Amino acid sequence: MRLKTAGDLLKHFPTRYGEAGDVKSIEYLNAGENAVVFGKIFKLKTAKTFKSRVAISTAEIEDSTGKIKLIWFSQPYIAKMYFEGNLVRIEGRVSQKRTKIPSEVEGELFFSNPKIEKVSEIPEGTSDSLFTGEENFNLTPIYPESRGISSNWLYHAIQKIFSSQILDEMEDPIPKEILKKYSLPSLKTALIWIHAPRKKEDAEIARKRFAFEEIFFIQLDRQKEKFIAQKEKSFLISKKDEEINDFIDTFPFPLTGAQKKSIDSILGDFKTGHPMSRLLEGDVGSGKTAVAATTSFAAVTTTPPNREFGNLQVAYMAPTEILAEQHFESFIEYFAKYKIAVGLITGSGAKKFPSKTNKEKWTKISKPQLLKWVANGEIPILIGTHALIQKTVQFKNLALIIIDEQHRFGVKQRMQLRRKHDIAPHLLSMTATPIPRTLALTIFGDLDLSLLDELPPGRQIPETKIVLPHEREEIYERVRAELKTGRQVFVICPRVNDPDPDKENTINAKSVKSETERLQKKVFPEYKVGAITGKLKPAEKERVMRDFKDKKMDILVATSVVEVGVNVPNATVIIIENAERFGLAQLHQLRGRVLRSSHKPYCFVFADSKSQKTISRLKSFTTVHNGFELAEADLQQRGSGDLAGAKQWGVSDLAMEALKNIKMVEAARTEARALITKDFELKKHPLLAHHLSSKAVVHME
Ligand code: ADP
Ligand code: MG
Repeated sequence: MRLKTAGDLLKHFPTRYGEAGDVKSIEYLNAGENAVVFGKIFKLKTAKTFKSRVAISTAEIEDSTGKIKLIWFSQPYIAKMYFEGNLVRIEGRVSQKRTKIPSEVEGELFFSNPKIEKVSEIPEGTSDSLFTGEENFNLTPIYPESRGISSNWLYHAIQKIFSSQILDEMEDPIPKEILKKYSLPSLKTALIWIHAPRKKEDAEIARKRFAFEEIFFIQLDRQKEKFIAQKEKSFLISKKDEEINDFIDTFPFPLTGAQKKSIDSILGDFKTGHPMSRLLEGDVGSGKTAVAATTSFAAVTTTPPNREFGNLQVAYMAPTEILAEQHFESFIEYFAKYKIAVGLITGSGAKKFPSKTNKEKWTKISKPQLLKWVANGEIPILIGTHALIQKTVQFKNLALIIIDEQHRFGVKQRMQLRRKHDIAPHLLSMTATPIPRTLALTIFGDLDLSLLDELPPGRQIPETKIVLPHEREEIYERVRAELKTGRQVFVICPRVNDPDPDKENTINAKSVKSETERLQKKVFPEYKVGAITGKLKPAEKERVMRDFKDKKMDILVATSVVEVGVNVPNATVIIIENAERFGLAQLHQLRGRVLRSSHKPYCFVFADSKSQKTISRLKSFTTVHNGFELAEADLQQRGSGDLAGAKQWGVSDLAMEALKNIKMVEAARTEARALITKDFELKKHPLLAHHLSSKAVVHME
C-alpha cells in the first residue's frame, strides 16, 4: 500500500465501523468492552521488542477513580506526540493480560492500540450513563492497519484533510448522469459518508459508490481493449469440418460435449476476420490441451493469404518451464502424424521436433537456429515460457496466441509478440482457476467465455475427508500405506515460516518450514520429505518440482504455489493443513493436483477450527466437485477483510463485495460499453481518460 497524497489517504477506506462505546470511569472498565475514558497521561515510553524489533509505546492514563495501561504496537511516534500530564481521550477495546499462574484469575487490564486525542478539559461526571444519549451515537471508522500506519493515525490524518479545502477541489470522475441513474452519491458526499458516517446506511451507500467506481474503471479498460481488438484485422482461418474431424479422430478418446462446443466457438471466431479474444475456463483435467491442439491445427494448416504455400503460426505460452515442456511433449503426440514441426523455447534452451536424424524424436538446438526457423515460418508451432515475448522472437505469420494460466494477457501484450506483419493474432487464454461469473465478466470483460464444465468420462473422484485432530495419526497410517505402494504425497501449509511469537494476534497456522522438519524427523523418517514455497527463486522452484516429478522425494511440503498445474501423475494424496484458511475454490485447485493418475486419489483436509460455519463450509468441499460452484459459494460466503480472492485478482476487498451483486456488475459493464462506443478515446471525459492511463486500472501478469 502506498499512501503518498491526500487522495491516497481518502481512498484508504475503513473496513468497518465500531461503535465507540460508553464513556466510563477507569474503575468500571471491563475486559472485552469498547470504551472511552478521559484522564491524564503518564509514563510515556517507547521500546522495541527483543526478538522482532517491533516498536511498542506504552503509557498510563489516570482519572479520579484509577489508572490503566495503554499499549500501542508499531506506533513509536505516539510517545513523542504527548507529554506527561496531558489531558487525553482514549477510545478502544479493553484487553486483559493473560496470567501464567492459574490461581490468579484476573490479569491486568489495558487498552491495546487505542485511539488517542488531546482534549482541553475532562468532561464532568464521566459516569456510565451520561454520554450514551442519542446525539452522542457515533460510528467510528476502523481502518486496515499496515506497515506501522495505525487506524488511529489514519483517522486523524483524514479528519485533517476534511477540515481543509481538498474535498471541494476534487473532481468526480464518474459522469453525473450515471450517478443519477443508479442513485449513487457524488464523490465528495461519498467520501464524507464513508469516513465519517452519521448512520450505517450512509456508509453503505458510499461503499456501493466506490465499489461501482472500481468495477466501472476496470470495465472501461476492458471494453476499450475489446473495442481496439474488434477494429483490428486478423488472419482468416476457415477449415472444412472433415479436416478438423480427421484430426480429432486421431485422438485416443472421443471429445466431451464441452470440448466440442468450445472448439466450435473458437473456429467460429476464426472466420470473422477480426482477432478472437476468448477465455477457456476448465477444471484441471477437463482437457484444455486437446482444444488448444485442435484449434492450433486449424491455424497451422492454413496458408497465409495470397500465398501458394507456407503456413500460419501458433505461439503457446506457459507460466513455467516444466509446464512448457509438458505442452511440448503433448503437442508432439498430437502433431507427429501430421509431420508438423514444434519448437520449444525457455530460459534454459531450445528444442525442436522432429529431429533431423530421428523423425520420431525431438532434439536440442541452438536458440538462434530455432528463432531463424520461426522467423522464416518453417516452425509453425512455438511453445515456451515468457521467453516467447522477447524481442529476438519474431514470427513470420503469427495467427494464434495460446496462453496457459497467465490470467491477464491484454492487447498490449498481444502486440508485444513480434511478427513481420500488422495483422493481429487471435488470442486464446486458458485457465483452471475457477472464478465466479461476475468476477469473470469484470476482470476478463474484454474476453468471450467458453467453459469446459464437463470432465472426461471415467475420471476418479477423489475421496475428500475432513480430518479431526484426534484422527491425525490414523490418517498418517493411511498415507504411509499409499507411500508404501510407491505413490507420492503433497502437504499444503498456509505459511512459509513460523509466525513471530512476539506479535499480537499471531496466527496459529502450520508453516512449510517446521512441518517439513516435523514430518521428516517424527512422522515419515523412512521417506524423503522436500519443501517448496513462493519465496524460492523461479529456477529453484523449477528444480524442486522437477525433483518431485522424478521421484527424488516422496513427500513435498508446499504453500499454495503448487496450485498452478504441474503434472505429477504419481502423486495421489494431498494433505491440506489449516484448511479453514483457504477459500473453497483454492482448495478445489489444490485437490486438482492429485487428479492426474489412474490410481485412487485422496484429499485429507485438516481443519483447526471449532467454528460450525467453517466446518459446514468445508463439508460442502467434500461433496461438491465442481470448481465453478465452489467459486460462487466462496464469493457469497466471504466476509469483509477476507482478502484471499481480492489479492489474487488485483481488485479491492470492496469490489469483491460488490461482485456478489450481478446487477451492479452488469450496470457498470453496460455504462462502460456505452461510453466507449460513443467516445472511444474518452475525449469528453478527460478525468476518466486520465484514470485509465494511470494507476486506476489493474493488470495482472
Ligand atoms: P487440462 O484441462 O488440465 O489442461 P489436459 O488437457 O492436460 O487437462 O488433459 C488431461 C488428460 O485428459 C490428458 O491426459 C488428456 O489426454 C486427457 N483427455 C483430454 N480430453 C479427454 C477426453 N475427452 N476423454 C478422455 N481423456 C481426455
Ligand atoms: Mg493444462
